Amino acid sequence: MKCRGAVLRGAGKIWDVCQIDLDPPRAGEVLVQMAVAGICHSDDHYATGDGVAGHRLTAIMETNGFAPPDLYPMLGGHEGAGVVNEVGPGVRSVQPGDRVATSFIPACGSCRWCSSGLSYLCDLGAGTVSKEMTTDGTRRRHLGDEALTAMTQLGTFAEYVVAAESSVIKIDDDIPFHAGSLVSCGVTTGWGSATVGAGTEVGDTVVVIGVGGVGMNALQGARGVGAKYVVAVDPVAFKRESAPFFGATHAVASVEEAVPLVRDLTRGVMADRVVLTPGVVPTDLISPAMMLTRKGGTCVLTGLGRYDELPVPLVLNDMVLSAKQLKGVLGGGMNPRASTPMLLSMYREGRLKLDELVTRRYRLEQINEAFDDMREGRNIRGLIDFR
Ligand SMILES: [Zn+2]
Ligand SMILES: [Zn+2]
Repeated sequence: MKCRGAVLRGAGKIWDVCQIDLDPPRAGEVLVQMAVAGICHSDDHYATGDGVAGHRLTAIMETNGFAPPDLYPMLGGHEGAGVVNEVGPGVRSVQPGDRVATSFIPACGSCRWCSSGLSYLCDLGAGTVSKEMTTDGTRRRHLGDEALTAMTQLGTFAEYVVAAESSVIKIDDDIPFHAGSLVSCGVTTGWGSATVGAGTEVGDTVVVIGVGGVGMNALQGARGVGAKYVVAVDPVAFKRESAPFFGATHAVASVEEAVPLVRDLTRGVMADRVVLTPGVVPTDLISPAMMLTRKGGTCVLTGLGRYDELPVPLVLNDMVLSAKQLKGVLGGGMNPRASTPMLLSMYREGRLKLDELVTRRYRLEQINEAFDDMREGRNIRGLIDFR
């Protein structure tokens, strides 16, 4: 079928809204008519090139026998929600007419990681930026004669998505599409980073650096599990002003301001948990973030850095002598098949704020404007409306 989608033809290019071709779903696949898609920084990494292995890393990969992925042209978008239009043979968890949220990590349900409650590490994740489907290794998405990579095997910046059943999660009919879309990445990643990822406990002091579409939900998570102080750090005034509504007890513009504040609040102990959720994590943020972390504390790395910034300045002796942890967390450490219904039920009960995260809605044709607004810090979350 033909439909409109937003495609990147290379790093450093803008989004091109054009006609794409999707093949019908085969065994274990679904076709979803999209209602809403979220504007998330993860897609922008491929537009700016941050998410593309640079020369040095590419050389290391090639030396070690890894083929650098063939990324472009890339159909963007991994956050979203819509309605199942068609299912291929063998699909059991959804049927036509069902509302679904996307899942940027497909979960097979049977690999070692899925079987041990770590579905965010599912082996299918290795193929998330590939032109081939995770189901049978053939291609479904096309731009003229070229095969398209679909962002995390989804490509939600299009009117329709053909994806593996393992990449969609059924949501209840009374859940609005924007809520399903928000929970499909940013909310879960943020909420999970502060809760299961950082292991926040009652009475903790938590610092969240970067409070956009992900970090704002780390504030909600930290407060939700009983943190005493929740400090938001963001250079954008609008985000600092919004932070208390989502659970921050304090908001400052920089790490330099956060250090004396946290020292005061904790009588010199420093923060139990620090969560790093800026759009792009600069390598020179790691050392100050570890300084903010108390002895025995945990600093969680949720945002992605640039691939070409390899050396990270880190005071190793402080890590050892103060027994601090620096921990990478993917998708908040949440298992989407469990966390999606859980978070949406909290939303339904008024215990998780989702509506207020949406700053602005766009048409697909406005996608470059939407990403400009995200980069300029004008949005907590922008959404593309297909209806
Ligand atoms: Zn995302
Ligand atoms: Zn798996």
